[in-house]
Amino acid sequence: MIHIKTREEIELIRESALIVSKTLGMLASEIKPGVNTLYLDSLAETFIRDHGAIPGFLGLYDFPNTLCMSPNYQVVHGIPNGNPLQEGDIISIDCGALKNGFYGDHAYTFAVGETSKEIQRLLEVTRTSLYIGIAQFKANNRVGDVGYAIQKFTEDAGYGVVRELVGHGLGKVMHEEPEMPNYGRRGRGKKFTEGMVVAIEPMINMGTKNIKQLKDGWTILTADGKPSAHFEHNIAIINGSPEILSTFDYIHEVLGIETDEELPFKTTTINGNLENLSKG
Ligand code: MG
Ligand code: MG
Repeated sequence: MIHIKTREEIELIRESALIVSKTLGMLASEIKPGVNTLYLDSLAETFIRDHGAIPGFLGLYDFPNTLCMSPNYQVVHGIPNGNPLQEGDIISIDCGALKNGFYGDHAYTFAVGETSKEIQRLLEVTRTSLYIGIAQFKANNRVGDVGYAIQKFTEDAGYGVVRELVGHGLGKVMHEEPEMPNYGRRGRGKKFTEGMVVAIEPMINMGTKNIKQLKDGWTILTADGKPSAHFEHNIAIINGSPEILSTFDYIHEVLGIETDEELPFKTTTINGNLENLSKG
């Protein structure tokens, strides 16, 4: 069953989501060749606890760390380790935080130093597909509208859309209904309504959509060894429209990336009133 959230509950999810956003922003300035993912994981755990939250993934389904760290051809659910990141790598970082009984959960794929043009395109297309999906998360649309939009855009770019792992509802439980696949058919699946909160998270492979899993029981890899990217936001339906509760602004400030892609889905405080800029 889908848990519809009150405005108060949405604000609590936003608080947890923003702790994740800030954690990823902190990590953005630490990611460089020579740094290992276990070190980054410990920085994130300290940062989250210092902000009065609990790491959302640590111990969830027995996951051993704070961050899922998935370099290069790892898709998601990679376990932090002592191997140093190298120039030209990419690293997908997925982070969760739990505060006031509500979860935040999002992800970003970072370039380590200079990456190839081919990889930069994969990152850009995947990130853009996230916003194309978010635009479809509005009252009276359906799960298939989001999935179709992401699938169309990324497959037109020549990429593979992972089928086995999907986005999800978000709240007091990390993974709630509905499932939010990154593929689908328009007009199909559960209908969206006011107060729904979900995580949308395209996992896009440069090559085949097929994946495999390591014997560690966690790490998901591309079947062909080509790179994969993963971007995730947390979004609520407010006044019928999608509002992003998380933000990549902290990351982009560090990386010097200027973009207004979140602007249509953002709330700003104007004269103390919440104003949804996505309207009109
Ligand atoms: Mg996640
Ligand atoms: Mg998620």
